Amino acid sequence: MSVSPPAPRLPPCPICQGQQVGNLGVVSQYGVGVHPHARALWTKPLSGLNAVVCLNCGHATLFAAEPAKLRQEAQQHPERFSW
Ligand SMILES: [Zn+2]
Repeated sequence: MSVSPPAPRLPPCPICQGQQVGNLGVVSQYGVGVHPHARALWTKPLSGLNAVVCLNCGHATLFAAEPAKLRQEAQQHPERFSW
């Protein structure tokens, strides 16, 4: 039984056109992520982050892992965001 990599579906790197890989966690010993400044969630972000990284130049793009949480927060408290 051989294991083949998934078919490429991420676009090439915007900097060097290299192959990008995704579904990478952004980690530390603390909770790394994003939340509105108005909320003091210093140890537990509203959403974690997923990264896409170019295997050639290292260019990294960050994505919120749970955009639905941010969407809900933005709908309930639009004043906490810039638009
Ligand atoms: Zn690159």
